[in-house]
Amino acid sequence: MTLRLYSTLARTTRELTTVVPGEVRIYVCGVTPYYVTHLGHAFSYVQFDALRRYLTDSGYRVRYVQNVTDIDDDMIRVSREQGRTIHEIRDENDSQFRRDLDRLNVLRPTEYPYATNHIRQILGLTQQLIDRGHAYAVDGDVFYEATTFDGYGALRGLGMAELGKLENPESKRAQKKRGPLDFLLWQQVDPGDPSWDSPWGPGRPGWSIECTAMSMAHLGDQIDIHGGGSDLVYPHHTNEIAQAEGATGLAPFCGYWMHNGMLQSEGRKMAKSKPETLVFARHLMERYEPDHLRLYLLMQHYRADADYHDGDMDTLRPRFERLKSVVTSAPGTAPMSSPLLAAFREAVDEDFHVSAGIDVLDQAASRVLAGSADPDDAASVKVALAVLGFAFAGARGPALGDLTP
Ligand SMILES: [Zn+2]
Repeated sequence: MTLRLYSTLARTTRELTTVVPGEVRIYVCGVTPYYVTHLGHAFSYVQFDALRRYLTDSGYRVRYVQNVTDIDDDMIRVSREQGRTIHEIRDENDSQFRRDLDRLNVLRPTEYPYATNHIRQILGLTQQLIDRGHAYAVDGDVFYEATTFDGYGALRGLGMAELGKLENPESKRAQKKRGPLDFLLWQQVDPGDPSWDSPWGPGRPGWSIECTAMSMAHLGDQIDIHGGGSDLVYPHHTNEIAQAEGATGLAPFCGYWMHNGMLQSEGRKMAKSKPETLVFARHLMERYEPDHLRLYLLMQHYRADADYHDGDMDTLRPRFERLKSVVTSAPGTAPMSSPLLAAFREAVDEDFHVSAGIDVLDQAASRVLAGSADPDDAASVKVALAVLGFAFAGARGPALGDLTP
């Protein structure tokens, strides 16, 4: 069996096929570094790191792009509040974020683009959308006209009328827009805020166009997998489909929309506005080994919403210690294939069900410790855990210390 993935747009699970045979192009929405990241971010990026490693082990060449949204309302607000430039704020938070991911053994992306380094591409894409009749300029702003794109809202599974009932972040510009769902590609800025020259006057990009421009710049007009949190389905990813397919005329923009679930803490949404709800990966890594945290994060299915409770890591400890002790005592020579590795893969292949794969490994680990395992089992457990990115199993890690993009 080969990997089957659920796509939010198709609403079904299909065997992975790619635009270019043998290559997987993945774009994952990155962070907006106006604040430190929390455990929910670590959950998302550890999952996509494991996916990338699993695909590489399956024989694919993987190109993995993850962006940094370094210009948006929040970046500007914090910059004003702190009297520092958006780049200073970006560099401080982004460095901390990457140090956390390094410790979790998350591989560096193939490309790590900043939105502010892609203004030229954003302007080009915006002009293309105007030329093709999807966008219009009004008094310094440029809007995408949602009704010009057939199927706008399909990713969210809603029609235009239902979408109109949802919260719309751009409703304050209602008088300038032709339709209520129209969204910004380019926007005028308040005096003193960062801006770039454009044919429509000085301004800055809208949010969603940034990711589409960076994805197309680094991975081409069509990609295989687009990842991100389920909170990005609408409007961000809905807009991305309209932008990319509207500009190129090529469909689909993306073969598989993979959305990870939301990680809560103690039954509450983690929100920067409520610091008491936040759990940080780096704090947990002061008390637990990074691989222990990685195991916790991978024991949640990527698509499920999860709830972190203080004590969950301790509950997981026997399993972590069991796997670690089997790996430590495993022979140096590893099998290329074994019944156990086949069973592991079969479990994971069903919509990247990593936790089911780890269950298979853990049962084998118990047999190893009980002295009733097959001869290859310990080595197979080690091989499989290395594929999932566990450092204690010998997985390759990022080049520590190198934080330049
Ligand atoms: Zn994005």
